Amino acid sequence: MSSIQPVRGTHDLIGEEQRRHARVVSTARHIAGLYGFDEWSTPIFEETRVFSRSLGDTSDVVSKEMYSFNDRDGESLTLRPEGTAAICRALVTNALTQSLPQKVFYTGPMFRHERPQKGRYRQFHQIGAELLGAAEPLADAEAIALGYAVLEALGVAQYVTLELNTLGDAASRDAWRQALVAYFSAHEGRLSEDSRIRLAKNPLRILDSKDAGDRELVANAPMMEEFLTTEARTFWDELRLKLDLFGIAYTVNPAIVRGLDYYNHTTFEFVTNRLGSQGTVLAGGRYDGLVKQMGGPEVPAIGWAAGVERLAMLLESAPEAPRSVVLIPVGSPDEKAVCQILQALRQQGVRTEIGYKGSLRKRMERAGKQNASHVLFLGEDELARGVFRVKSMETGQEDEVATDALLSDARSIFAR
Ligand code: ATP
Ligand code: MG
Repeated sequence: MSSIQPVRGTHDLIGEEQRRHARVVSTARHIAGLYGFDEWSTPIFEETRVFSRSLGDTSDVVSKEMYSFNDRDGESLTLRPEGTAAICRALVTNALTQSLPQKVFYTGPMFRHERPQKGRYRQFHQIGAELLGAAEPLADAEAIALGYAVLEALGVAQYVTLELNTLGDAASRDAWRQALVAYFSAHEGRLSEDSRIRLAKNPLRILDSKDAGDRELVANAPMMEEFLTTEARTFWDELRLKLDLFGIAYTVNPAIVRGLDYYNHTTFEFVTNRLGSQGTVLAGGRYDGLVKQMGGPEVPAIGWAAGVERLAMLLESAPEAPRSVVLIPVGSPDEKAVCQILQALRQQGVRTEIGYKGSLRKRMERAGKQNASHVLFLGEDELARGVFRVKSMETGQEDEVATDALLSDARSIFAR
């Protein structure tokens, strides 16, 4: 049998990598809280139609990336490829459309059958925010400000720029779609095979193509801006005004159409040039029609998601491994006393481990690897005298400390 490997495009998070991930998630959770967002957790799998209905048949995700399977009851289920559709499903099935707005933060693994490469995996993690039930451009600006604040708190804001666009409302989009069909039809022979299918089904999707030939054509395609209705133009102007009020800088990029079908009005991406071709770290937009597609009422909404792996790579440095105090029994001191002191230290908030077995030298080596700040030696003699020997791994200095002091004031002893 060949050796067992993790599934292609998946990875284990261990040590420094796990700490980077945890930093991204806990920072985002904290900042989202400051903006009044509450965390929701939805299941990792859903009925397939939660995604197939909402993301669009011609989106990359639905057409070729979903992990769908029939379960033992013959029901078609899908490992969630993204969070927004599931949050909208949850809004409807929990009858929360009666108490709007809802401001939701979420995090967790997502699954897409993509070609794995740096910054692109088959199981990856997202943090995301959804502001459900707010129709005004101020909500869009707040959602974007939250995204920016997360990037700032992670210390990566200087590596990213905000690219902003509008897809207008339905009427603007219809007029634009017609112009795009006329334009791409005239150049159909130069389109990639995928994009020829898109031309028939969903021509806007061509703008999101990653094919180099398509991209050349896209560069000269008609622009959304020319087709905006008065209402959509007002929304677009207001949004930019509000972003100015929040002090958020952006550049307008008409090519930001996003990969999923449900967006209208605002679309945006925070991009970096530090991650090669996987440069989008946080992206989102307005999706006023999605909740209705889940069987709910019309609920205007705006949100974004960010790739935790990409943000973790951008972090300047990994969070430090935690320091431990390691207790090393010397000889065979009373086990009850050993366990009591371990628990007493942990109850005082000190990360405490025990050096199980081996020679003293081995156990000291191991303590070094465990990133110990101090080692506590406890032998029968010390136990009888009511003391511990405490060695600082930083300075090498060894002191005797009364057991009573350890039991009552451990943190200040190990702060030295
Ligand atoms: P891309 O154009 O890179 O495929 P997307 O439009 O499919 O991105 P979204 O669905 O908007 O991406 O997801 C939001 C964010 O999640 C992305 O900006 C990215 O940071 C991250 N992300 C998406 N797919 C992956 C993946 N396969 N592996 C790692 N991160 C991903
Ligand atoms: Mg994608």
